[in-house]
Amino acid sequence: MKSLLAFALLGAIPFTAGAAAKINVVGATEDMAAIAREIGGDAVVADSIARGYQDPHFVEAKPSYIQKLQKTDLLLTVGLQLEIGWLPPLITQSRNPKIQPGAAGYMDMSKYCQILEIPQGPVSRAQGDVHPLGNPHYWLDPENGRRIAKALADQFSSMQPASAAAFAQRYADFDKRLTAAQKGWEARLAPYKGRKVITYHRSWPNFCERFGLVVVDYVEPKPGIPPTPQHTLDVINTMKRENIKLIMVEPYFDLKAPNKIASDVGGQVVVLMPSVGGNKEITTYFQLFDYDINLLVNAFSKSK
Ligand SMILES: [Zn+2]
Repeated sequence: MKSLLAFALLGAIPFTAGAAAKINVVGATEDMAAIAREIGGDAVVADSIARGYQDPHFVEAKPSYIQKLQKTDLLLTVGLQLEIGWLPPLITQSRNPKIQPGAAGYMDMSKYCQILEIPQGPVSRAQGDVHPLGNPHYWLDPENGRRIAKALADQFSSMQPASAAAFAQRYADFDKRLTAAQKGWEARLAPYKGRKVITYHRSWPNFCERFGLVVVDYVEPKPGIPPTPQHTLDVINTMKRENIKLIMVEPYFDLKAPNKIASDVGGQVVVLMPSVGGNKEITTYFQLFDYDINLLVNAFSKSK
């Protein structure tokens, strides 16, 4: 009887463990978590730290983030120093060996993506530039979303080899849906190819390159440095000279400078979402592009 019971218990263990063993994923940002959900399906639970409506360069650390990281199997960082001001101490304080830099559960997603604006020559944050290693807003090109998804399919498979076929299938499905969606997005913006725009922060180089828009200048004099009166005047002059009518602004910046510039040049400000979770309508990676491209098409169709 005893041995039968032991046998039954032993038999039950792998099944129970298998069913419970979801991979706990935390994205430093919601974009990474959203792509992890696409590829991981039921096999993962994906959460994030920075919310989509927050400036990902500047996130206020909370004790709850440390608790979150204590239970994390896989941490997805954007990298390129995007999170340098807030994530490293959270990782250290979690004391979770799985997600320390260099451990198998720490992934820097920038390593898999096409990175723009990599500085030439010596690198320094001394002047306040928060993009010293290249532009960290690379997820705003769907091709980079695809690369992130592929890296995650491989990573999940190595963590849970029994589900490798399912992860490969989910990646293939994501790849197919993204290709179809991207065709639609490109077609909608095609009539506005070559349009010149101003952006507040350097959040959009990957997005603009993919969809054929030309970023001429920025409301910020440097990434992370608030607008100055002189720089604002320069932007106004540039917009007048080059007949630029559109200023793209992230939701977490003060609208005072962009509104002033827009009114001086007869242009318009459009508040675009740089991340999944920027508002309630945007819960997936696909909805992020749907939302932004809708707003852009609407804005462009109103201006000549
Ligand atoms: Zn930035």
